Order: sequence, then structure tokens, then C-alpha cells
Amino acid sequence: MINVCREYETAVVKTDARHGGLDSGCVAINGAYEKDINLDIVKDLGALLSLNGYEVIYTREEDISIYDDGVEGIRNQKISDMENRLDIIKSYPDSVFISVHQNQFTKSEYFGGQMFYTTNNSSNYRLAKTMQELFAGLQPGNDREIKLIDNGLYLFKETEQPALLIECGFLSNPTDAANLSDAQYRKKVAFTILTGLEKFFSEEVKNKENTEIGETESFLYMQ
Ligand SMILES: [Zn+2]
Repeated sequence: MINVCREYETAVVKTDARHGGLDSGCVAINGAYEKDINLDIVKDLGALLSLNGYEVIYTREEDISIYDDGVEGIRNQKISDMENRLDIIKSYPDSVFISVHQNQFTKSEYFGGQMFYTTNNSSNYRLAKTMQELFAGLQPGNDREIKLIDNGLYLFKETEQPALLIECGFLSNPTDAANLSDAQYRKKVAFTILTGLEKFFSEEVKNKENTEIGETESFLYMQ
């Protein structure tokens, strides 16, 4: 157990509060903006991670887009914003990338958090599974399944370290929208993400140890 803590004492968790500035993301049925909910959750998560000894890198800590100076037009600004986010992610290859979003659908009955992952990193599936289970615990009745988004999203297509896109809930659902507009509930979401990451890190260490034992055993067998 002590090894687990020591191993990941300085783990970097890269957090991305999606959208911001001109880009509001989706708008909840109660009028809340996705960009604001994302930022609040990421700030709560960042504070929890820092308290637990992790280094945290943010793509944004304010309600802004991060496009380059002088770029004009919303479309070009969005592209520049994406490229800058990707540069930040790529400059921390030994990190876990967490992108926080809120979902939306035309039918209001759909609810619950859902995890999206790519196969760029072999750990992504396990990270998504672990996190999905914890969200099911936070949101009774949430039986959503993790979803593969290979070739889906620009940032994820290019990211090689462990990465997870978390849709925390549906802003088109009255209960999810009300919950996600509540600061206490957002803190619970942040705590759920922290718990998922800690579980993921400790499993990573166990897997690594098992691999090492496996290698030793096959070596002995070959003697
Ligand atoms: Zn979004």
C-alpha cells in the first residue's frame, strides 16, 4: 500500500474544462451553461488532487477560450483554442488527461454520467470502466456503458497518455441539470473523479507488479 502512494506521489493529472469564453458548450434546460459547470467541477477536482499530492495542470482556470492573439473569426478561434489545448496536453506526456463535459440529448429522460475513451493507450479501457462504476454509485439507476471514441474527437485522437472524457450528466434532463447546478453535487462529482483516479493508479501499480512477477517466472521456467 505504501508503495502505491509513493509511486504516484508526483503523478500529473491534466484537467481540461471544456469550452469557455465564446464557446458555451450546451445550455441546460434550466439555463445553466456547460462551460461554467465544467470549470467548477475541474476546479473542485484540481483542489482535491492538489490536497492529495498530485501535480495538476489546467487548460483553463477561467471562463476563457485559449486561442492565440490576433486570430479572428469564431471558427478560427475554436481551431486555435483546440491546438493550444493539445500543445498543453502533449507537453506533459507522463500524465493522465481528464476532460470534463456535460451531455445533452433531444429526449429529456436520458440521464447519468458516461465515460468515453480511445484505444490510443492500453490503460484507457480500464480507466473508463473504473470511473463508470463509480458514477453508477453516485447516480442510482445510471446503467450507461463506456463508449469508444476512436477517430472521434481531435484532442483524444492525438493524445497518447491515459485519457478519459467524462460526460458528468445530461443537461437536457431536469434532475441531472438541477444536480449539476448545485455546488454540493458538483463537489461530489469531483470527489467521484478523484476516487476513480486513485483506484486507477493503484490498479496500475498492481498490474505492473504482476507483469514483473510474470516475467521473472517465465525466466525461471526457461532455465
Ligand atoms: Zn461539451
